[in-house]
Amino acid sequence: MERKIETKCLHLEEDEGRNNHYGAISYPIYQTATYAHSGVGRSTGYDYSRLQNPTKEHLEKVIASLENGISAFAFSSGMAAISLLMEIFKPDDHIIADSDLYGGSIRLFRNVSAKNGIKFSNIDCCKENVEDFITSDTKAIYIETPTNPMMNVTDIAVVAETAKKHGLLLIVDNTFMSPYFQNPLNLGADIVVHSGTKYLGGHNDTLAGFLVTNRADIAEKFAFLIKTTGAGLAPFDSWLILRGIKTLGIRMEKSQENAIKVAYWLKKQKAVTKVIYPGLPEHMGYEIMKKQARGFGAMLTFQLESKAFALSILEKVRMIKFAESLGGVETLITYPTTQTHADVPQEIREKNGITESTLRLSVGIENAEDLIYELDKVFRETERELNV
Ligand SMILES: *Cc1c(COP(=O)(O)O)cnc(C)c1O
Repeated sequence: MERKIETKCLHLEEDEGRNNHYGAISYPIYQTATYAHSGVGRSTGYDYSRLQNPTKEHLEKVIASLENGISAFAFSSGMAAISLLMEIFKPDDHIIADSDLYGGSIRLFRNVSAKNGIKFSNIDCCKENVEDFITSDTKAIYIETPTNPMMNVTDIAVVAETAKKHGLLLIVDNTFMSPYFQNPLNLGADIVVHSGTKYLGGHNDTLAGFLVTNRADIAEKFAFLIKTTGAGLAPFDSWLILRGIKTLGIRMEKSQENAIKVAYWLKKQKAVTKVIYPGLPEHMGYEIMKKQARGFGAMLTFQLESKAFALSILEKVRMIKFAESLGGVETLITYPTTQTHADVPQEIREKNGITESTLRLSVGIENAEDLIYELDKVFRETERELNV
């Protein structure tokens, strides 16, 4: 019987039966840069930690198992992972990318990958037909679903079919859902990207990134590139992510439960003009989410009646932290305009619907009543001050 994902977060099946760590339940941190050889031509399997480190390797096996890939690669951040991913392309290669991506990915594509000769078409993968943008140079389709921060949902299987038909790679950044709720490789994607800083680590304390693939030829390229360019995750950080993953299941369930409560509370507020959460039946992507994911996640975006109202919320929150990032146990509130999406050109931002009165919440695992209590206090104070 294939094990369920909560179990896979705790136990690496392929590692069982081996007893080479003195029975330690927690995987050891091999804090070493290099490894001794017992003789010429003899190796323990590890030679230098840029090439591989046992703690990092163990984490990579766990991630591969959670995403049902054949190989995973751990990087010092999500952006380090995406930067390395771009190295498999060459000048004049063309990539069709969703226009509502993580701001850092857009910054990378526009300023670094473009300089290296890679061409991009940024399209709305939910509304436009991907096929219309394919040229003879097109090599890949790059999507996030749900997107950040507008929570647009793309049907992964449909895009995967188009990619297969034209011999393109489908790359899915699965950070928002985590492998607990969604497995793009099962739906036909070739490469999955994660910012491990978010749900996988889960504690707002470590940066990490991952690439996962189910294709041996791509895995071989990644293995060569990671040892050559050197952005692999450090042993201690690998261990922190391993520890975070142990509770991925219960954290995802609790955050989602809270997010649903907060979404319904926000919907009742006079000052809120729109709540964008894919777990609300009126959300455009609700049915696709039900088909391709096991949950809706805990990220939600909402629009306020004015910029002044949005700014006041950011000024007044105390327990809920006004901070970038997401996916941790603490609830964070973000202002996409000046934070995550500051480097995205204003016209693209506005086309995507990100305005100065848009706020994004990453709902954590606090008691939902305490979250709503604080939001209620902040909303009522703001209404009094702004006279709305
Ligand atoms: C945060 C994030 C990234 C970048 O990851 P870092 O770990 O911050 O470098 C990429 N994609 C998405 C969807 C993210 O949320």
